[in-house]
Amino acid sequence: MSMQFDLTEEQLQVKHMVREFAEAEIKPHVMEWDEAQRFPRDLFFKMGELGLSGVIFPEEFGGAGMGYMEYATVIEEVSRVDGSIGLSLAAHNSLCTNHIYQYGTTEQKEKYVTPLASGQKLGAWALTEPSSGSDASGMKTTAARRNGGWLINGSKNFITHGISADTCVVMAITSREMRSRGISAFIVEREREGFIAGKKENKLGVRASETSSIIFEDCWIPEENILGEQGRGFVNAMQVLDGGRISIAALALGIAQGAFESALKYAQERNQFGQAIFNFEAIQFKLADMATQIDAARLLTYRAAWLKDQKRPTTKESAIAKLYASEIAVKVSEEAIQIHGGYGYTKDYPPEKFWRDAKLCTIGEGTSEVQRLVIARQLVSS
Ligand SMILES: Cc1cc2nc3c(=O)[nH]c(=O)nc-3n(C[C@H](O)[C@H](O)[C@H](O)COP(=O)(O)OP(=O)(O)OC[C@H]3O[C@@H](n4cnc5c(N)ncnc54)[C@H](O)[C@@H]3O)c2cc1C
Repeated sequence: MSMQFDLTEEQLQVKHMVREFAEAEIKPHVMEWDEAQRFPRDLFFKMGELGLSGVIFPEEFGGAGMGYMEYATVIEEVSRVDGSIGLSLAAHNSLCTNHIYQYGTTEQKEKYVTPLASGQKLGAWALTEPSSGSDASGMKTTAARRNGGWLINGSKNFITHGISADTCVVMAITSREMRSRGISAFIVEREREGFIAGKKENKLGVRASETSSIIFEDCWIPEENILGEQGRGFVNAMQVLDGGRISIAALALGIAQGAFESALKYAQERNQFGQAIFNFEAIQFKLADMATQIDAARLLTYRAAWLKDQKRPTTKESAIAKLYASEIAVKVSEEAIQIHGGYGYTKDYPPEKFWRDAKLCTIGEGTSEVQRLVIARQLVSS
């Protein structure tokens, strides 16, 4: 069996292109968007032109026709500069658009995936509810048959792009007795009556990524908007999350890389006791540990992405990558603050934002505790 640790020429080109874009178009605005909690919708049109809104979808559906290795690279490079934009791209690509691409009919793919993948439209994916997060199948939102379509009632919580999305994939109960096998997925367009954007969350981190609740009040959609088989919505959502978690691992990896680079630079520039603080072994050991953790997270993330590209199961490997990368992103960015001393505690230097953003990664798309449950179950499944 051969092992390959180098990115291909094409993957390297993608990496460099996204790095240049992030440095030029995102970096100058990072703190302004963070402070104002401004979601830069226009940036998504630009990212769409570069293929970043549809990395993993075929060109016939408006995508860039690339795989998860390239996708992980894109999310990593964007998040190295701003985790908010990384999170928004991830929710748009691998949750909303991918759910429609994986389980939609050809007509649904043409109608919805094409504008989403090309960046013309923005996507949201609504699973979480006020009283059901980790226990997502405990949802209360219902979809009942009415007038040749479905009537959706209920509310969703913490939805990325809950206010700005044009297209939303919504999980709702179609048969309560069937429990998780009685949950179905639906495509709901923003302009549907009864689709009401709720409160925008005032968050610790990833503040430029919009997060809000959505309320569905007698929101009617036609029969053709059911996504996938009736009753398979929850199972399909879990399969969508297997891919999504690779992007959260890449998001964490990018944040850790950004924090590490700022700490390494600062350690060489900052003098105390007549020399650069990098010369102190205590600082060197911190940086060595950070570099080691980032390397391990990158290998785990790329392994999961590679397996996904081979169309092999990734439930365990995605959860391992997501768990490890998220946890080390928090540690690495915290150490980056420490290396910056008092300056690291101010908003004039990057580490505090990396740390705030990193924390999301241990919560979104399944908390670290839930990842451990997923991994443990896989250890004993045949
Ligand atoms: C910025 C942001 C963006 C998000 N975007 C989206 C989105 O686009 N779409 C969407 O559907 N959701 C989204 N979410 C929701 C996210 O997926 C949930 O917050 C997450 O799954 C946790 O659910 P919860 O917040 O209800 O926490 P809870 O499930 O209430 O968990 C609270 C605590 O209990 C622990 N816990 C729960 N069950 C167990 C258990 N069985 N064993 C051990 N510990 C347990 C958890 O790990 C956690 O520490 C987003 C969240 C955030 C913060």
